[in-house]
Amino acid sequence: MTPDMQYRRSMQRVCIYCGSSDQVTDPYRQAAREMGTELGKRGLSLVYGGGRTGLMGVVADSALAAGSQAYGVLPHHLHSRERAHPALTRLELVDDMAARKARMIELADAFVALPGGYGTMEELFEVLSHRVLDLHRKPIALLDTNGYYTHLLAFLEQGYSTRLVSPAHHEILIVERHANTLLERLLATPR
Ligand code: AMP
Repeated sequence: MTPDMQYRRSMQRVCIYCGSSDQVTDPYRQAAREMGTELGKRGLSLVYGGGRTGLMGVVADSALAAGSQAYGVLPHHLHSRERAHPALTRLELVDDMAARKARMIELADAFVALPGGYGTMEELFEVLSHRVLDLHRKPIALLDTNGYYTHLLAFLEQGYSTRLVSPAHHEILIVERHANTLLERLLATPR
């Protein structure tokens, strides 16, 4: 077996962080739909927040439609606010937000942030900082749909150039604009 095939075998569940806002329109909805479909095409399972709202619901619907298994992790108090998805392979209810993030990190083999708000950014930076602290070795990617993250990426460049963020950590975050190229890079990333 080539190393590349081994990485492919060891990546089965991809955690998707994304916006919960119902106000969001295309191209963001389309990007979330494509991500779900591309997961399904590759036989990858989805791990996510478990809700039906916003891009979270779009990713889950399209991943399930494309044949993926979908695992949701939802805090009790958000059960109605984020509308628990009724068709998941498994929905885990946890006590609070910290338990949600920890469980999603535990369940997944890789992480992808789609466009989103404060919650998505917090989740992305938590999994990145855990990687820097060697708490895990799983790959992390950002889907920069329609240049949504242009300014965040420029800010990170400032972090590296000022050495407030170690330039050695520059390589950790995989950035792509399309779901298929992003997943191919994740699948080819050594772990
Ligand atoms: P947003 O990107 O703000 O729409 O949020 C995306 C998801 O992140 C939603 O499911 C939020 O409930 C969730 N979220 C927001 N803050 C946190 C947090 N501190 N820990 C875990 N999940 C969070």
